[in-house]
Amino acid sequence: MPVGAPAARATAWVDTDALARNCRRLADRLGPRRLLCAVVKANGYGHGFELAARAALAGGARWLAVASADEALALRDAGLDARTLVMGALSERELADALRCSADVVVWELGFVERVAQVAQRLGVVARCHIKLDTGMGRLGTRSERTALACAELVATRPSLELAGAMTHFATADELDDDGYFDAQLERFTRLVAILREALGSRFVAHAANSAAVFRDPRSHFDMARCGIAIYGLDPFHEDAHARGLEPVLTLESYLACVKQLDRGESVGYGRTWRAERPTRVGIVPIGYGDGIRRALSNRGWVLVGGRRRPIVGTISMDNLAVDLGPRPEGERIGEPVVLIGGQGEERISAEEVARLLGTINYEVATALAARVRRLPLSRRAAELPPGAGSARCEHG
Ligand SMILES: *Cc1c(COP(=O)(O)O)cnc(C)c1O
Repeated sequence: MPVGAPAARATAWVDTDALARNCRRLADRLGPRRLLCAVVKANGYGHGFELAARAALAGGARWLAVASADEALALRDAGLDARTLVMGALSERELADALRCSADVVVWELGFVERVAQVAQRLGVVARCHIKLDTGMGRLGTRSERTALACAELVATRPSLELAGAMTHFATADELDDDGYFDAQLERFTRLVAILREALGSRFVAHAANSAAVFRDPRSHFDMARCGIAIYGLDPFHEDAHARGLEPVLTLESYLACVKQLDRGESVGYGRTWRAERPTRVGIVPIGYGDGIRRALSNRGWVLVGGRRRPIVGTISMDNLAVDLGPRPEGERIGEPVVLIGGQGEERISAEEVARLLGTINYEVATALAARVRRLPLSRRAAELPPGAGSARCEHG
């Protein structure tokens, strides 16, 4: 059993090789003529955008996508200059930032196209525009094919603009039982692409598929797929990533900072929501809701210690949580790694399992990881865990 005092209270180990392999699998599924766009918004779904983006590009992704101009700027600041699509709505300031770092932007309204043209002209750049059709997501985009076509035609007439793409987004790609909704969206988008190609030629990139759609239906692949969740080895269908042929990328690790003996009836944590029903040992792990471990996992969640599942007991605090290690010492040591998401020995706690406990989805579990959790490549883990360090016990009483 590895023993040591970890260099930090909470670390998200990112298996960049696994992320690259997930990208390669997706690229293989798409085939050689289609592009993979790796979605690294929200700090790479909590995994760290820079680690994620570099690994994705190494794995064959050709484009990156983010939600905001600030995220595009952060990519450029990190020295990542791959083709980047900003998928979200943009304020005036954000639009200028996006264009200044030569990101592609999304448009769906004539007035906004004009503004993009003006800002691009002022900056002396050519803005690459993607026309967004709302085929049923009910979010960003125009619902009107005529407006989409008019936007595309306006883009084509402005010297400071370039028609780079046409896109849509599916509402139910991950729900196979959707009464034909996915198919209807696909049909609408297919029709729009045909209209645009007829009017403007075929020199733009049509893209619609997210991760789930890539697995669900090759007809959704068009020229490029925008994949987020699957590149991180999380299951777009919320069940089992391994069964989908994906490798989870994240291991969220903390360590045993303290072990104490509790007598029957003694409690741990705020509000005394858990009391020992028998004499037992409780381990304190210095990670909490301030790190993104949701408080709703109090008295419900699990961790791995020494390859064994241990229940989270008591109320999760901002910076710490407690686990019941059972009455008999099993060789646990202070400083020993504790895994909250990921594998240890033969055991594994998946983001999907945590999501089910919380009534949410793996996306939210990963994205919830707070800024103060260090993101490091898994390849550095051995170097960060000095052997033999810190084996003193902290007993109470
Ligand atoms: C986040 C996002 C994606 C990626 O979706 P996944 O389900 O994570 O693959 C694709 N397209 C748009 C517009 C998005 O906002």
